[in-house]
Amino acid sequence: MITTGLDDPKASAPAPATGALELRDITAAYGRTTVLRDVSVSVGRGVVQALLGPNGAGKTTLLRTAAGLMRPSSGSIWLGGEDVTKQPAFERAHGGVCLVPEGRGIFRRLSVRDNLTLQIPPWAPRGTGMDRALEAFPILKQRLGQIAGTMSGGEQQILAVARCYVSSPSVVLLDEVSMGLAPRIVDQIFESLMRLVSEGISILLVEQYVNRALEMASTVYLLNRGEIAFSGPASDLDEATVMRGYLGADLGSGEGVATEASAEPMVGPAHPNTASGHDKVAPE
Ligand code: ATP
Repeated sequence: MITTGLDDPKASAPAPATGALELRDITAAYGRTTVLRDVSVSVGRGVVQALLGPNGAGKTTLLRTAAGLMRPSSGSIWLGGEDVTKQPAFERAHGGVCLVPEGRGIFRRLSVRDNLTLQIPPWAPRGTGMDRALEAFPILKQRLGQIAGTMSGGEQQILAVARCYVSSPSVVLLDEVSMGLAPRIVDQIFESLMRLVSEGISILLVEQYVNRALEMASTVYLLNRGEIAFSGPASDLDEATVMRGYLGADLGSGEGVATEASAEPMVGPAHPNTASGHDKVAPE
């Protein structure tokens, strides 16, 4: 039985200071509703860390707070050792944070080329990032002139992830990138993510497929009702433990995190690669 972090979640929290991204004692609220309570997460350099939890646990809120889209009511955020708590999102993006939000977050009315070009930071050499993105995702080479919103859901998600190659990030925040996608596309996206990691880029991954997340991640944070219920090495966990031991109460209510054995996420579109997945509207 795994006990790490259950008695005192903070006891197993990674030590601060050296991570690529650190959220320290973050409390965040929507109006009067507090969604994150004293949450600390540290993302090491060049590793994948998974953030798992049932629906409504606060995962998206945590990523949005890390990206500067939401200001915490207390706590601090550190990027590469610098306190960026008060920096707006665009400055954090310039500083190396790349968020791939749930629902893709591409500009659907712009071409693939324009979506990629817009991500190139002012100081970066123009060709390099674009070349890397097209090398990682050759399908996009044939689609450069295509309006992004006319591509399939899988291709749009590939574009959303490809934007991370172009923006020269130090930290990539991914919010359920596999949602509604065919396993073949998910494989392709996750392979490309591991390539980013091999280049020293850090990844904080919110993922519905627990087994995939455990395979990729070195460390796992389990968030439940806005609090860290567990943090520790991914090797200390298996899918069943996560599902039953930590998320069981919520799974009983029909919500939670999916297994790939079921081949269907418990949240989101009814089945990967269905029309509902492809038709999902991406925010602009
Ligand atoms: P899911 O897996 O369903 O995406 P999550 O773990 O990402 O869930 P969040 O989306 O961060 O959770 O939501 C956490 C809580 O905050 C939920 O109770 C949600 O209803 C609430 N919430 C999220 N966004 C808003 C908002 N804009 N205004 C008010 N409450 C919100």
